[in-house]
Formats: sequence, C-alpha cells, structure tokens
Amino acid sequence: MPAINGQDFLERIHQLQPEIWLDGKKITDICNHEAFKGILTSKAALFDFQTNKKNLDLMTYVSPVSGERVGTSFMQPKTKEDLEKRRLSTQAWAKLSGGMMGRSPDYMNSCLMALGTAWDHFQDSRLIGKHILQMYERARENDLTLAHTFVNPQVNRSMLYFEDEEHPISAKVVKETSDGIIIKGARLLATQGGITDELLVLPIGGKYIGESFIYAFSIPSTTPNLRFICRESFRYRSSAFDHPLGARFEEMDTIVVFDNVLVPWERVFLYNDYSISMELASETRYFTFLLHQATARQVVKTEFLLGLAQLIVDSIDIGSYTHVQGKVSEIITALETLKALLLSSEMNAKHDKRGRMVPDVNPLSAAITTFPRLYPRFIEILETLGASGLISIPTEKDFESPIRGDLDHYLQGASCDAKDRTQLFRLAWDVCLSAFGGRQKQYERFFFGDPIRLESGLYNSYSKESAVNLAKSLLNSNLKKE
Ligand SMILES: Cc1cc2nc3c(=O)[nH]c(=O)nc-3n(C[C@H](O)[C@H](O)[C@H](O)COP(=O)(O)OP(=O)(O)OC[C@H]3O[C@@H](n4cnc5c(N)ncnc54)[C@H](O)[C@@H]3O)c2cc1C
Repeated sequence: MPAINGQDFLERIHQLQPEIWLDGKKITDICNHEAFKGILTSKAALFDFQTNKKNLDLMTYVSPVSGERVGTSFMQPKTKEDLEKRRLSTQAWAKLSGGMMGRSPDYMNSCLMALGTAWDHFQDSRLIGKHILQMYERARENDLTLAHTFVNPQVNRSMLYFEDEEHPISAKVVKETSDGIIIKGARLLATQGGITDELLVLPIGGKYIGESFIYAFSIPSTTPNLRFICRESFRYRSSAFDHPLGARFEEMDTIVVFDNVLVPWERVFLYNDYSISMELASETRYFTFLLHQATARQVVKTEFLLGLAQLIVDSIDIGSYTHVQGKVSEIITALETLKALLLSSEMNAKHDKRGRMVPDVNPLSAAITTFPRLYPRFIEILETLGASGLISIPTEKDFESPIRGDLDHYLQGASCDAKDRTQLFRLAWDVCLSAFGGRQKQYERFFFGDPIRLESGLYNSYSKESAVNLAKSLLNSNLKKE
C-alpha cells in the first residue's frame, strides 16, 4: 500500500500486538488506551492530510519503483527544489501540532531515506548492505512508521566504566545463529516505542565498547521478546479544552528491553564492523537529513510560540510596555535566525557522491546547538508574560457549572470573553507548566543528543581555516603600518 490515510494507519496499528507495559500493566489495545488515543488520532490526521487531494502534490511523490504516490519524506533529494519540497512538507505536518509532535513520521522516514540510499556503505563480506535498501523501500511503499533507539541505559557515564560482560545492561549481541543475531539488554529512550510498525536500532556513538555492540537493524514492534516500558502518561485529560496539547500530542517515551530477541539476518544491515560503524554519519548523512527535518519543525514551533505570546499580550493588553515588546522581539529574532539557517543550509546544499542533494550541515548544526538554549528562554518569556494567568485556569466542566457567572465576570480579558481567555491560558499552561510542557523542554534539549557533545562536535568538524587566515591577515605588518 503506498501513501496511506488516517484510517489505514489506525487499522494497521490496531492489528499490532506489541508488548507494552504502562503503570505495572500490559496494554492489550493500544488504539483505545487513554495514554495513546490522542497521539494515534493526531498521527492519523497527518496521514489524512497527506492523502487529501489538495495536498497530494506537496506531501507525496511518485515512487521510482511502483509508480504509485508515496510520502515526500521518503524522497531522495536530487535538486535544491527537492530539498525545498521536503522542508515544506515537514512544515505542513508540523503546523498541525504547532511543532509539538517531535516524532511525526517524516523524522524517521528522513533517516531511513538517508541510510537506504547509501546502502552500498553497509556492504561487507556478508553483503548485508542490501537489507537497508529493502527496509527503506518496504517502508516507503507501505508508509510504515518507525520509532528508534540509539542510546544505552544511563547507568554509569564515566569514561572509565565498562560493563560486566556476563550480565549485559546495554543491549548487545549474545549469540549468532544461522537465523540471525540474538540481542540481550536494554536501550533508551524510544519515543513512541511500541506504537509504530517498526523499531530502528543503530549503534551508539562515542567510545568503543566492543564488537558485540556494533549492529544496526530494524524489526517489527511485535517481535517476540521485545518489550517497551512506558513512563507515566502525561495525558491527564482527554478534553482538548483542558489539556490542549497533552490530550492530542502526548507521544510517550519508552525503555526498550531486548530479552534475547532474535533479529533475522535479513533485518540486519550492520554487524561487527567498526569501520563501517565509525563512518555511518559521514557516509549516509543521516544526521544532516534528520537535522534538516528537525530545524524545519523547530521553525514552526517557534512561530507557534510567537503567536501564543502575542495572543497573551493582546488578551490582557500589555503590548505598550517596552519590556514586553523586547521579550516578544526575542522570539521574533530567534524565528528569523532559525529560518535563515534553514534556508542557508539549502542554498549551500551540494551533491554527494551518490547524487543526493545534501543540505549544508553547518547552519543546521548551529541551529541544533542553539535551540536547546532558545527553547527554555521562550518558555520563560511566556511564563513572564502570562504570570498568574497561567495558573487561574478553570476547566471545561467549570464553565458548564453553576459558577459560570463568576467565571464570565472575573476571568474576562481585555479583548476576549472569559472562556476564550481561559482556553488561551490553558494552552500556555500546557506549553509551559504541565508535565507535557516540561517533557517538551527536556525533549528539545536532548532529542538530538547531548547538546554539550553536539557543541564539541561542531567545534571539531567546523573548518576554521578561512577565519584563522582572516585573523592572521590583520596581524600583517603592512596593515599595521597603514
Ligand atoms: C524526551 C526525550 C525523548 C527522547 N527520545 C529518544 C528516541 O526516540 N530515541 C533515542 O534513541 N533517544 C531518545 N532520547 C535520548 C537522547 O538521545 C539522549 O537523552 C541524549 O543522547 C543524551 O543522552 P543521555 O540522556 O543518556 O544523557 P547522558 O549521556 O547520560 O548525559 C548526562 C549528563 O552527563 C554529561 N555527559 C555524559 N557523558 C559525557 C561525555 N562523554 N562528555 C561530556 N559530558 C558528558 C552530559 O552532558 C549530561 O549533562 C530522548 C531523550 C528525551 C529527553
């Protein structure tokens, strides 16, 4: 089945029977569970949007294999126009959640596209490289959704720590059979783990900890002995009035346990080869394509927060205060900077040796290292502007009760009635103060990796030669004399 609609998506997810645990219980019907209903309905809306006739041109393209229309985020970009189309389709989806759905399917589709179109990089003596091409094509032709896990459990992060070989904590290969590899141990932190068709597992970066940790594969979420352990749900209420974001976009994060999981050979595309693993990012450019998708989404999220800030300002008429103007301008400046970085990455995109048009990674790295600082500041600005308004937020039921008269009178705004004002401030509360909002802050800090190490990576990879030459030229003695 090519590009799917919402109903196709929900029917497929309904048939999944993954092992998911939440609050001490095994979930049997994920589609009808309060913790997952919201996000699955919102994802279904994305698929309905993509198959809506008026969006087909932007959200899909013609598959080079089947000739059917498939999702744009699977498209291998060959021109700058292709990159632009990828950006616009990501942003069209991001607008449906204000950028709050970090793992809309285009995120992992972009990763799979980058890996699958660089399949030759994974060819070793076992010729397993073709497996990632097959996985990419299967996902593209069936519009599969994926979660991923790239991080080991946070037991001991010291450089000197090595795990006890006999009792693995970090997931590793414990046996190799004619059918495949057996994985035992855990991985962090799969957002939407268990509620997607498949789980993509890539090797962790950082220090070398042994050959048995070098593997990459994608397996169905329903694979036997694969277990997803959820944190508590941050979807407190199903009413979109009461919990405007959490009710719809709470994605859930899971710890993934591999309890002697058999990964069939046809699912493995990297095994036991350190040099292939080391060049994974530079050869496939999956980091760059993920960054392009992430920055496009963050632009939309920033625009949403700017709009929210301005609505708060108008609702209580504080726009004439200069410090208020300054705070809103901070968000404007950030928005324009992020937009410029994104466009610059496309303007300076270049073909790689595989004929793919790859965005310039430098502006995207600048965006991803800046956003973890910007986002908490946006939240601080909204909290400062909203003040007690973020706390005096009665529920939908209060507005249907005998105290409605009090609410209508005492909670009215300068430019709106009490119910509209409360709805607006509940939205701001859900961005800033709810558990959903707190998780968003942590997500934007860490979802792409540790910001500290991302900054080190930028320092180490950025060519500083022309800057150094410029500085040296100003040391030139002739110049000094002039
Ligand atoms: C909401 C959320 C959703 C996520 N979703 C996913 C997902 O879907 N898939 C996935 O794979 N991952 C996901 N992650 C995990 C994310 O990739 C990690 O949080 C990130 O890579 C950092 O790793 P860590 O959390 O283990 O932090 P740690 O590595 O444990 O870092 C903890 C602290 O120690 C410092 N530190 C540790 N080691 C070093 C070092 N070598 N050098 C310098 N400082 C160091 C860090 O700077 C940090 O301050 C998610 C995270 C969050 C918060």
